[in-house]
Amino acid sequence: MTQVNLTEKLKHYFGFDKFKGAQEAIIRNLLEGNDAFVLMPTGGGKSLCYQLPSLLMEGTAIVVSPLIALMKNQVDVINGMSEDDGVAHYLNSTLKKSEIDQTKKDILSGKTKLLYVAPESLNKEESIEFFQSVNISFYAIDEAHCISEWGHDFRPEYRKMRQAIEQIGKAPIIALTATATDKVRTDIVKSLGIDGCSEFKSSFNRPNLYYEVRPKKSEDDTNRQIIKFIKQNAGKSGIIYCLSRKKVEELAAVLMANDIKASPYHAGLDSETRSKTQDDFLMEEIDVIVATIAFGMGIDKPDVRFVIHYDIPKSLEGYYQETGRAGRDGEEGVCIVFYSRNDLKKLEKFMEGKPVAEQDIGRQLLQETEAYAESSVCRRKLLLHYFGEEYQKCNCEMCDNCLHPKTKIEGEQALLIVLKAVKALKENFRQEYVVNFIKGRGTDDIKDHKHDLLEEFGLGEDENPKIWNPVIRQALLEGLLKKDVENYGLIKLTAAGKRFIKNPSSFMIVMDTDFKADEEEEEMSGGTSVLDPELFAMLKDLRKKMAHKQEIPPYVIFQDPSLEQMAVMYPINEQELQNIQGVGAGKAKRYGAEFCKLIKQYCEEKGIERPEELRVRTVAKKSMQKVKIIQGIDRKLPLDDLAIAEGLEFDDLLSKIEEIVNSGTKLNIDYFLEDIYDEDKINEIYDYFMDSETDDLDTAVDFFDGDYSEEDIRLVRVKFLSEMAN
Ligand code: ADP
Ligand code: MG
Ligand code: ZN
Repeated sequence: MTQVNLTEKLKHYFGFDKFKGAQEAIIRNLLEGNDAFVLMPTGGGKSLCYQLPSLLMEGTAIVVSPLIALMKNQVDVINGMSEDDGVAHYLNSTLKKSEIDQTKKDILSGKTKLLYVAPESLNKEESIEFFQSVNISFYAIDEAHCISEWGHDFRPEYRKMRQAIEQIGKAPIIALTATATDKVRTDIVKSLGIDGCSEFKSSFNRPNLYYEVRPKKSEDDTNRQIIKFIKQNAGKSGIIYCLSRKKVEELAAVLMANDIKASPYHAGLDSETRSKTQDDFLMEEIDVIVATIAFGMGIDKPDVRFVIHYDIPKSLEGYYQETGRAGRDGEEGVCIVFYSRNDLKKLEKFMEGKPVAEQDIGRQLLQETEAYAESSVCRRKLLLHYFGEEYQKCNCEMCDNCLHPKTKIEGEQALLIVLKAVKALKENFRQEYVVNFIKGRGTDDIKDHKHDLLEEFGLGEDENPKIWNPVIRQALLEGLLKKDVENYGLIKLTAAGKRFIKNPSSFMIVMDTDFKADEEEEEMSGGTSVLDPELFAMLKDLRKKMAHKQEIPPYVIFQDPSLEQMAVMYPINEQELQNIQGVGAGKAKRYGAEFCKLIKQYCEEKGIERPEELRVRTVAKKSMQKVKIIQGIDRKLPLDDLAIAEGLEFDDLLSKIEEIVNSGTKLNIDYFLEDIYDEDKINEIYDYFMDSETDDLDTAVDFFDGDYSEEDIRLVRVKFLSEMAN
């Protein structure tokens, strides 16, 4: 068997000329009857490592995979290579009884070389009984990280695999995954009982990916940054990941409101919508998908140009997997994550209901993400270190920390203190404990262990308290310390660490990036800035003059809150003006020029520095419904039907419409008015508003003295404000 010309077989069955990476070695190892652990990045070609040998070996290979949706596809591919249909099959919960019978028949006849099963199907009593009568060539466990609670996608059924395999009968096992830290790898190997198996690891470095972490100050600011980024990268495909479905919906709406072709995607949407969104993305009908992590598994778009994480991910493995979807073709791939400590705290809170062991794992995974985000060390180095790989270069030139390096400081003394502390604590405690010990903080825990009585307690009292975490992390990276992930993340000394204590030398470090713990939500109306009373008065004056000249009431031009905001934000062009509350595109065009001119002149004269930030159109959270109302009116839905569709009383719908119009959006409800009122009635109310000093409702009702109802007046006022003011 080992003598077969595998390249020939590869060509014969798959039509490929040569193997990718370690494929050939992996296949030979399996043909020789050995177990294997294969770690290969997404797109590396793992499937072929079991598909080809299954065709060459006696019996049927069992492939366990959690991705039921992809099984059929894989089976079709294999069957497509042969004249016969039964070469590959799958068994899962989607099959009908008759299909299961046919599958079993093909297997028993020896025709079937490759059988895909879902883990829960394999574990079933009856499957086990059936498989006992089958000649099994080997077991392939795909997406094997699902075995481990330390992975990003734990599936309990994966835990029972060893037991099932033992009952069915011995055959070589090959476990494959695209993400596994040392801890996950050990878990896989142990759980499957393949200790001492051959291991094949490909490098995880993706040199074309650019990594960046940005502080998340407020939702508004984050939205603004994202919109700016997308506009600067117009026409490119990208994915934005959010943790919650709600956020996905909100952000997608904000992007759409800013003329970006985007769609939401999450597990709560029906499958038709989801597959349409997926297709639209592949066909480039839309540029951006805003998704929960439900999106991406099995998606193979080679030219995704950016992956943005709106929220900090729960684990670095998940982060690596998700960012891995950028730049698969080896070209540009920008990966940005927005980080705030508040988000981190929220994630920790979510875990509180879970079993203690699970919480503990979740916390440790989160701490790794925190370390990644806050560190000023090369992101690539940090990521690869997490996956047990050493990155040698000192500047990757493709991450924010390498492009804007922090000044290094001497950390020799601090490191020495850390190493001595770890030694004094007998290498038996976690990072947090070690840091408290060094700082001389006598926590209950430390007192219980009587560690506050040790000579080394408080050894670092005089140093900058912010130095300890970065020193420890960089000592871990440089191999002076190691974290025993098996044992709750205890910090241990390495041989190099012990040598350093005897023989200290220069150890240059960078301090962490400073993320404030409680970044306040910045007010949408311009944060802490204050209104400029002089400018406000001038703007009012201008409004009065214009109203007089055009013979319209002043409020039609801009209402007071808009002027107030102008006196805070100093908009000087039409674009900026539109970001002022109550100013839509129409209004900015119709009345904006003179206001901008005045503000610009004023700023120049006074030497005022305007807030630089790009202002974007926001969609208030509660206004998802408003978006629907606007769409309904655009489609000329009768307003009473629209009210029913939205589950609103007519009166409430009208209030919402008024809010929309007052905030500067033009709505054309003529189709509805003309349907229910005659022209005279409309004109009479319209003219009233044209001449009136105010748009106040009660004043109008009094004026008409019962001729028209409140509702009539309100509806026509919507038309009036829409046409005149927006
Ligand atoms: P993984 O499971 O590792 O993410 P796949 O097994 O899905 O990757 O393979 C990714 C792509 O690479 C597939 O389109 C596959 O056909 C292709 N591929 C695999 N091996 C080879 C090879 N030796 N030569 C060319 N293409 C290959
Ligand atoms: Mg795969
Ligand atoms: Zn770097």
